[in-house]
Amino acid sequence: MLTARAADADYVEAAHAVRGVAYVCRGCGAPVILHAGQIRPWHFQHHPDATCAFGSKMSEAHLNAQRALAAALRARGVHVELEAWLPSLAGDRRIDVLAHPAGQADRRVAIEVQQVDITDEAIAVRTASYRVQAVAPLWLRLTDFGRFDEAHVLTATGEIWIERYAARSWERWAHDQVGELWFYDAGAARLWRGRFVQAFGWHEGSEWYEAGGVYQSNPGGYSPVTRWVGLALEGPYAPEALRLMRGRVQRAARALSAWFVPPDGTMSPWPLRRELRTVLQFRPVFPMQVCELEQCIEGRWLPARIEDAPGDWRRLGAQGGAHARIGVEGRRSPDAAPMGRDSHQPPD
Ligand SMILES: [Zn+2]
Repeated sequence: MLTARAADADYVEAAHAVRGVAYVCRGCGAPVILHAGQIRPWHFQHHPDATCAFGSKMSEAHLNAQRALAAALRARGVHVELEAWLPSLAGDRRIDVLAHPAGQADRRVAIEVQQVDITDEAIAVRTASYRVQAVAPLWLRLTDFGRFDEAHVLTATGEIWIERYAARSWERWAHDQVGELWFYDAGAARLWRGRFVQAFGWHEGSEWYEAGGVYQSNPGGYSPVTRWVGLALEGPYAPEALRLMRGRVQRAARALSAWFVPPDGTMSPWPLRRELRTVLQFRPVFPMQVCELEQCIEGRWLPARIEDAPGDWRRLGAQGGAHARIGVEGRRSPDAAPMGRDSHQPPD
């Protein structure tokens, strides 16, 4: 865990902890050990026999992502608490990064850095528990894009294109709340805006006679592929280059959500990625299925052009810099009005 309590302070982050001082768990009050090493980020840990769920072991990538997000937000005056607790949360589980604009504690955003799988039910319950407290959830997928050995570029938009991304169920759930899913690439410490593109498989029609001579037929057609989606990635962005937004999103029945906004200020222009689709076709010429990306242009589906991604795509053109303005933005009365996300209007 990244935070603990001391005799004179309720909230101490490990990065500012002092060797030799006694620290206790913010959840159970038991003594914790400060790990202040050279390689892993400084953190606290329970004694091995502790049963407390708060501060269960986080990966180094997870701790680094939390710290990078906190530092980027704080650099712009946003108030940040790590491993925060809300009364509506069941159990000992904490919020990875709880942020709000300075002096506006009623406009909180909970950033959850999710590395492992969780059930649809668990993410729905947790999301609801935030919204009940008027905290806007942002589910951030922590992964390492180094594991993708093949990436392309969508020629029309310049986005990185991963042809078959085995999206977890919770990723689809979170994606469908706001129409996009943000990724944190642990290997490069960069963020990407991801949009899922539905794939369709073509199956041939068939006809047959059942016992008794009853004629049956299946006309064939396209059906959605469920094992994977196409993934279009926009970025990469340095954490300090992004603004954090909160508001009500039509796609989630006007429920409160949070998301990042890139420096150029464009909101999601497509609530659903309807202008792209992947189609699996069986080509008799090659005795195999071929995967084709198609783009809808003026009502017609045409092959979309892709090219090979450059070898350094994970770090290429990372946007950021001292000039980037960031903050938790949005309307003053957060729940009074939508932020225009689905109506193609820029935020305030
Ligand atoms: Zn504890």
